[in-house]
Amino acid sequence: MTTPIKVHHLNCACIQGLSIHGRHLACHCLLLETPQSGLVLVDTGLGTPDFEAPARRLGAEFAYGYARPKRDPSMAALNQVRKLGFDPKDVRHIVLTHMDLDHVGGLSDFPHATVHLHKFELDAAMARASFKAKRRYRPLMWAHGPQFAAYVDEGERWFGFEAVRNLKELPPEILFVPLFGHTLGHCGVAVQDAEGWMLHAGDAYFDPREINGPTRRCAMMVGLFQAIVQTNRKQRLYNQGRLRSLRARHPEVRVFSAHNPFEIPSAAPVPARPLRLPESASMGSAAPA
Ligand SMILES: [Zn+2]
Repeated sequence: MTTPIKVHHLNCACIQGLSIHGRHLACHCLLLETPQSGLVLVDTGLGTPDFEAPARRLGAEFAYGYARPKRDPSMAALNQVRKLGFDPKDVRHIVLTHMDLDHVGGLSDFPHATVHLHKFELDAAMARASFKAKRRYRPLMWAHGPQFAAYVDEGERWFGFEAVRNLKELPPEILFVPLFGHTLGHCGVAVQDAEGWMLHAGDAYFDPREINGPTRRCAMMVGLFQAIVQTNRKQRLYNQGRLRSLRARHPEVRVFSAHNPFEIPSAAPVPARPLRLPESASMGSAAPA
């Protein structure tokens, strides 16, 4: 039997401009210790250059407007990898849920890593064909010329999700799960460790009430934000429905999203009565406009 993957949960940014239950959004990344493929990062969050020159790297609107990430370089994956006692050069692979600026800022901190992502996402980020795309995709973040490995929609079924596949040079315990809607090629990343499967759902949802409980709910500002940045509302809500089924039918699969601060294992539990109604908006089957 092979040695199981060891998973470290990292929070690689604190987004002070948006909150859920009174806590700022996180950037939940994974550092995977694999027996054969070295260290693998799932998303990078913000990188050291983003903390040094926020406006130039992230754009003034993100740096000082709606997101306002805390300027704390110790949160960069590079510094957390070092703090865990690893050599950043041993990060040989990065798997991206998508290429939004808050997920790829750390790419240049690991210039030798192969960057795995969906082909639709790579194409969209390179083309930057719309006003929205120009704001979310920041070419400075891949100006160092990383080696990309892009994948099309082919694969097998996994807990009700189609076209799930493994990635070149990575073990079968790491799977890529298409979850389009937030962006054109947005994917989740499933990882099997000694305790079973977990699914990093990226930005497929933000508020856990979107995939838990009898009624879909979402903190208002976070719901509006998702509706503004989505590329396909129908796909996004369809995928939230599938995540909801996964939660209900397979509670053993640990599902978490990139930005929910309460889903990082080291974080404090959700407060007992956080749900003040004025802050919440029932989404039912529809997202806020
Ligand atoms: Zn994001």
